[in-house]
Amino acid sequence: MFNRKIGIDLGTCNSIVFIPHKGVVLSEPSVVAVTLAENKILAVGKEAKEMTGRTPDTIRIYRPLKDGVIADYRVTEAMMKYFVKKASPRFNFLKPELLVGVPAGITSTEKRAVIEAGMAAGAKGVYVAKEPVLAAIGAGIPINSCSGHMIIDIGGGTSEVAVISLGGVVTCQSLRVAGDKIDQSITNYIKKKYNLAIGEQTAEEIKMKIGTALSEKEEREIEIRGRDLMSGLPQNIKIKSNEICEAISDRLNEIVQTVKDVLRDTPPELSADIMDKGMIISGGGALIRNIDELIAQSIGVPCFIAEEPLLCVAKGTGVVLDNLEAYKKSIMTKRG
Ligand code: ADP
Ligand code: MG
Repeated sequence: MFNRKIGIDLGTCNSIVFIPHKGVVLSEPSVVAVTLAENKILAVGKEAKEMTGRTPDTIRIYRPLKDGVIADYRVTEAMMKYFVKKASPRFNFLKPELLVGVPAGITSTEKRAVIEAGMAAGAKGVYVAKEPVLAAIGAGIPINSCSGHMIIDIGGGTSEVAVISLGGVVTCQSLRVAGDKIDQSITNYIKKKYNLAIGEQTAEEIKMKIGTALSEKEEREIEIRGRDLMSGLPQNIKIKSNEICEAISDRLNEIVQTVKDVLRDTPPELSADIMDKGMIISGGGALIRNIDELIAQSIGVPCFIAEEPLLCVAKGTGVVLDNLEAYKKSIMTKRG
């Protein structure tokens, strides 16, 4: 009854804190600002992200999970402490149990590091589960059944493609091509075609507003501002959705290729299940227009976008925390 339980989706781009029966209580960028000289942590989350691209060279902005591995233990620990503290009511000194979603690609040493970081952040016990498993649960897939399910999670730093059956990951691949690289390909395209330099945030905004995985008959268009590389002066240009489609297609095809590779490595019974039921896409990348159509057309298997794709992993933590016994095969534990 007086058990406090907190789920954390420690994403490469966004971290989400979820409390069972309450829902999402916090969603902030997985970003930490550190002073270079004293190596002191200055800011975490939103506040740190706002500093991106605006810092003097005495401050460094970290995304500690950027590539789906834990690049810096201390920074990860600070981030988790901040999230746990911010999600806890004041004057509640009961130590919570934590369930942390981690990229499927991390090693067992890194998993243990996350558990230690959780304990150091003040948890009574820490459970760790792989993100694709949590994403599948959050998307409403009955992962404990003996039928095969495929989940394609397209995040910021990594895309993870996994086949799940009987509560565990059967085959899985993680690639470092996801939202960030897609943004970069937009930046490069505009630089090459228009001689215009744009910032990271502008590239992301273009992707969200007019990005599409398949070319469209009725094109959408937006006006963007950048710096002309010849004159060095600010300049506005108009850009169309089919140009963005062209800019990002190589990146998207890498994701499609990974889905093919995973299917090829999947035992035939399970891939037959997937052919029947289709594949599920989660993560922020699922919101790229027509991405489901592109994957379905390229592979010849139906493809569905999960409900609230950005929240699948977080919702999955809530379901697991509520039913720890049923999901014990899918988690790794340490109790304090
Ligand atoms: P992670 O789990 O790695 O932290 P998320 O699942 O939170 O990643 O997804 C973040 C990525 O999703 C970012 O690259 C962001 O640009 C992208 N994204 C978010 N919303 C949209 C959208 N509406 N259209 C396209 N991409 C989006
Ligand atoms: Mg994620």
